[in-house]
Amino acid sequence: MYLFPPTLSTLLLAAHFSRVDNDWLAIFCLALPFILFVKKFWVKRVYQILLILGGVIWIERTVVLVQMREEAGEPWSRLAIILSVVALLTVLSALSFETKKAKSRFIKTDNESSPIVFSFALTVLLLSFVHWKVAHPTMLLAERFLPGTGWVEILLLAFYAAWITEKMLDIKKSSTIRKRIWTGFSFVFFSQFILGLSGLEKFLMTGELHLPIPAVILAGPLYRGEGLFMLILFVGTVLFIGSAWCSHLCYVGAWDNLLACSQKKPGTLPRWRHGVRIGILLFVLSAAIGLRYLGISGVVATTLAVLFGLLGVGIMVFFTRKKGTMVHCTVYCPTGLVADWLGKVSPFRIHIDNKCDDCGACTFACRYNALEADDIQKRKAGITCSLCGDCVQSCGKESIHYKFFGLKPQTARSVFIVLIVTLHAVFLGLARL
Ligand code: SF4
Ligand code: SF4
Ligand code: SF4
Repeated sequence: MYLFPPTLSTLLLAAHFSRVDNDWLAIFCLALPFILFVKKFWVKRVYQILLILGGVIWIERTVVLVQMREEAGEPWSRLAIILSVVALLTVLSALSFETKKAKSRFIKTDNESSPIVFSFALTVLLLSFVHWKVAHPTMLLAERFLPGTGWVEILLLAFYAAWITEKMLDIKKSSTIRKRIWTGFSFVFFSQFILGLSGLEKFLMTGELHLPIPAVILAGPLYRGEGLFMLILFVGTVLFIGSAWCSHLCYVGAWDNLLACSQKKPGTLPRWRHGVRIGILLFVLSAAIGLRYLGISGVVATTLAVLFGLLGVGIMVFFTRKKGTMVHCTVYCPTGLVADWLGKVSPFRIHIDNKCDDCGACTFACRYNALEADDIQKRKAGITCSLCGDCVQSCGKESIHYKFFGLKPQTARSVFIVLIVTLHAVFLGLARL
């Protein structure tokens, strides 16, 4: 019985959306009550948030209809009262979840519900902002193909973010889940790329095709003198969340990771790799500037970029797969090096505390070669650390953990997971190329 008010409120919202010809949102609202079969605390909180949003929608509708009636010289007070009562009841129905029976259904078993709810809310906020700000052409993929489905896409992605956050918070599962969602992200990205190539330009952000080679994020703007979007997105993300771009958000790194994981344990790399990496970065940047000032055509520049990308694929196949360490990402890719450097601006770190007995077990969890003996002795991960978090579960002493200002390690990890999962869900829902 206590679930009746929220269910009724949702069905009334479905009727409203159907009336204003947004059938997709109407279907979403009709399906929403089924989530109440999931007896999790975060489901209750998310449903409460949606009911409050529902109240806001009724208020907005009231204002619009009152204005219309006023302009038409028609009476509006009865309509205003009825719709205001509906708005109020929609919001109040969220309180049904605070009854004794509801509390015993959606039990708060631990303190991990807040990060899940935050992921949901942040995903809704960010995608709503994009949907509101970039209307023509919209960046939401669903809206591009089926007008009116943008809000449904936002809500479904928010539920996805909540679900992934819940899984990632489980320290034993987080490494596996990270690899799966990263691979899935890359799959979706390249599916869009192939569909864009085959002529479906709706899959492309601007309608123009860009090369999906990470080095082009840096070299492209230097050669073209324009097209800063990807660079700004990359720099902004890395400053915010550190080099986690290279463990969660890059469409190519996921392949390197998959191939590295084909070996049981990662191997070590020579020390001179850092020098090689810096050399490749300087080479790529100066080549892009040189090609521009020599007036080399776009066709030639694109061919060179494709060759650079193919050489990278070769490195993954021949070196990463053999070594079990992400050779492409830690030695070859110049964008990864910039991510490592710029990422130091972000306060997120992997820290080793004094309980560490230098056993070296965490070294074998790190595919980025960032936990060599001297890194462990210095009690911090090396420069190539991508904040992937795989090492955290490998330490029996719980000595290695995320650090974020003065927060407790568990809280720092939760904050990190909320932010990175939200970005993952947001990036997943947008046209990118
Ligand atoms: S190092 Fe390069 S390819 Fe690897 S994840 Fe980072 S940006 Fe992507
Ligand atoms: S696994 Fe833990 S105790 Fe062992 S070296 Fe790594 S941080 Fe130290
Ligand atoms: S040090 Fe830990 S968090 Fe950093 S890359 Fe290695 S396994 Fe991932």
